[in-house]
Amino acid sequence: MLPKAQQNTKIVATVGPSCAAYDQLVALALEGVDVFRLNFSHGSHEEHEDVINNIVRLNQEHNLHVGILADLQGPKIRIGNIEEGEVVLKKGEEIVFTNRKCPGSAEKVQISYENFPKEVKKGERVLLDDGKLVLEVLSTDRQIEVRLKVIHGGKLTSRKGVNLPDTSLSIPSITEKDYADLDFILTQPVNWIALSFVRKAEDIIELQELIEEAGHTAKTIAKIEKPEAVRNIRKIVKHANAIMIARGDLAVEVPMEKLPTIQKDIIKRCIERSRPVIVATQLMDSMITNPSPTRAEITDVANAVLDGADAVMLSAETSVGAHPVKVVEAMNKIITEAEKHFTESIQFSLPSPKSRTYWSDTVCYHAARMAQEVDARAIVCLTTSGFTAFKISSYRPIRTKVYVFSDQNDILKTLNLVWGVRAFYYDKFTSTDETISDVVQILLDHGRVTQGDVIINTGSMPMHKKYRTNMLKLTLVD
Ligand code: PEP
Repeated sequence: MLPKAQQNTKIVATVGPSCAAYDQLVALALEGVDVFRLNFSHGSHEEHEDVINNIVRLNQEHNLHVGILADLQGPKIRIGNIEEGEVVLKKGEEIVFTNRKCPGSAEKVQISYENFPKEVKKGERVLLDDGKLVLEVLSTDRQIEVRLKVIHGGKLTSRKGVNLPDTSLSIPSITEKDYADLDFILTQPVNWIALSFVRKAEDIIELQELIEEAGHTAKTIAKIEKPEAVRNIRKIVKHANAIMIARGDLAVEVPMEKLPTIQKDIIKRCIERSRPVIVATQLMDSMITNPSPTRAEITDVANAVLDGADAVMLSAETSVGAHPVKVVEAMNKIITEAEKHFTESIQFSLPSPKSRTYWSDTVCYHAARMAQEVDARAIVCLTTSGFTAFKISSYRPIRTKVYVFSDQNDILKTLNLVWGVRAFYYDKFTSTDETISDVVQILLDHGRVTQGDVIINTGSMPMHKKYRTNMLKLTLVD
């Protein structure tokens, strides 16, 4: 059975108590979720393993290629427990943050970052609970305690997140918890591993080295949620395999009015470098409780689609929300409508002859151009690495579908995140003629093409050598 939605812009849904059971995951996948995200800020390894097993099973039973994204918490700073559950911080009052254990109160709370007193400076802002509370540093003893003044008060509960937008932190990018989570994740069939609070390209390179050492094939996602990451975006986009615009923390860390243009700039850079890009957080926030989205949320999803994002992501809406399937259904409606107005605005800049991958680059470029010229119904890529699919998708061929055939099961699932790409398992790479005739038949059987359609094939010849893509062909479906 095929998922209902077959739109170009993909949906990532975070798994949590509202949807972790097998039947609920199946319902979401059939409604159009393309990738499930496991958030390692929450849940035990056993719970995550159950979800992964459920996703593997649903892919097998429903012949789907839903991808799995493991999201590492990264260097998230939190306050400790509040003894009475909650306290109210009032404007103008003072509070002490300590790196020592203490029962949290309105006068003193623990902070999880040991070097906080050493690295913070007088006058810097400390934001709590996604920026709902704002404090200012008055003084620090540089070892244990920091005195702060409440600028914008409110209710504070245990373990709330802390953002330090003005402070340059030496906190390691991959924490002890992340290493322990990675030990588990790298034994699992996950396709994407995201790292939170990336600050520089080296953070993601370190993660890539750990993945490679473990002999795993997962690709990396750099979550952009720090001002340093925005400043280092060129190098991060170059090295990461994909990007997530993690607007929850980002909007707290940068001046909020800059968020829409940062989003547009990052999407543009990712498309230019053929890196999938996910727009995340609060897209359908009100649907955590309500059965329909707000006007602002409808417009936010549509704008992400029109900006050209590969995927839009749901967090609490599906993980703890009251209407997980309804959210996906509503999101799909918005995406489908917005895509009717998506224009092929991508500049067809010629690939550089200096590139290591020039031959396949130029085949992909001409495949996308030719698809426009001959009004092709589909571009059909035979790929082992998935490279062609990333590349062709980045030309955003709105009138032409991109179908990928591969014998690499993990690649089929990895590619489910990528704009417009739909993947099929195929392992009979005997001769070019036979394979092209086979894949046309598979597409006919699935109702993806009909007689008289023009399709463009890319692949590598001779087939058994599995070179990079070096072949481009026009085929008439007859
Ligand atoms: C975000 O901050 O927007 C985000 C996606 O990260 P997390 O959900 O891990 O806080």
